[in-house]
Amino acid sequence: MDKGQYEILERLIAFDTVSVNTDVPAMEYLADLMDGAGFRTALQRLQIAGVAQANLVAWAGEPRPGGVIISGHLDTVPAAGQPGWTRDPFRMEMDEERIYGRGSSDMKGFLAQCATAALALDRGRLKRPLVFVFTADEEIGMLGAQRAAPALPELLGEIPRPDLAWIGEPTSFAVLSAHKSICAFEVRVRGRGGHSGAPHMGVNAIAVMGKVIDAIGRLQAERRLARDEEFAALFPDSPHDVMNFGVIAGGLASNIIAEECSLKVTYRSLPKRDPLALYREVQTLMREIDPHDYASENHRAAIEVGRPVIAPAMLASSGSGLERALFAATGASASGGAPFATDGAWFAEAGITTLICGPGDYAQAHQPDESIPRAAFERGTGLMLDVIQRMCADAA
Ligand SMILES: [Zn+2]
Repeated sequence: MDKGQYEILERLIAFDTVSVNTDVPAMEYLADLMDGAGFRTALQRLQIAGVAQANLVAWAGEPRPGGVIISGHLDTVPAAGQPGWTRDPFRMEMDEERIYGRGSSDMKGFLAQCATAALALDRGRLKRPLVFVFTADEEIGMLGAQRAAPALPELLGEIPRPDLAWIGEPTSFAVLSAHKSICAFEVRVRGRGGHSGAPHMGVNAIAVMGKVIDAIGRLQAERRLARDEEFAALFPDSPHDVMNFGVIAGGLASNIIAEECSLKVTYRSLPKRDPLALYREVQTLMREIDPHDYASENHRAAIEVGRPVIAPAMLASSGSGLERALFAATGASASGGAPFATDGAWFAEAGITTLICGPGDYAQAHQPDESIPRAAFERGTGLMLDVIQRMCADAA
């Protein structure tokens, strides 16, 4: 057991890097660690929703083509207001089996392994570049990776940007090579308010939103049946596009005609498909809805579909050097698909072949009393050094 590795994780958990808060002090802490390990570092400063954020790029090794990027996000989902916590989310605690704290599995445990591996490795043996990229905002908009990935050639200067990236999201060390794109948007219905005793005077936005939900729900049912066998192996449970109604809000009181209603929708499309195709279908469907409520034909509601926010899909071709190295280090023999999106969306968009593999369980991510098994936390650093050795140490 490397005591330093636990100390680094304890420090990382203690920084409240919930996505809406600044990550700069925590990123500076990591930059100091990487500097101390002899890496060159660059902080990429960002403003996200008016908050100062930073990505960190740290690199070592000879300036030759090849090498590898190892990446993780520093932000976490919130803990405040989440029922089920029995511990302080920002204080690392341990028992025999597990380490607890917000971000322990998603994904400060992996970042602690990155720093520990950087401190442990023999930089003189790096014949190809080893580039760590730590990002902001993954849990909200992936804006950190969206900015970092295309800027890497500039940030790295004379070091050729590696074409392979490893992201250590929690997969219990399974190797994942694909995920769907994601598209989020809001539908707003604007009706006409009034006293509920005189429904003919208004138009009820909630009633019209019911039709919106029905229309989008039918589209969802249609997509569920449109299985694409090309992706049956990667996404055995859902080789098709999936959709979700995330949040609905509307109405003021039971005796007032609801004037406004809003609905947040997310869908995920298979790789190789236009991430906006379903959005356009929704736009068409909304135009076909009868905008009257059930109470009268007098007034029409306005149905608006808001601007979409998307992240691309990821699909890494099999047989890359990184895949071979991860298989050898983990014992895995095949790559699967991830049910979640990652920063890999933007690495892939920048032309970087990206694989997901990390310690901790995806089911633990975003949970109260989030934790990571100590065995996985301790195994991960050695595993990382093994992959680095295979990717960077032997001269090509
Ligand atoms: Zn994550």
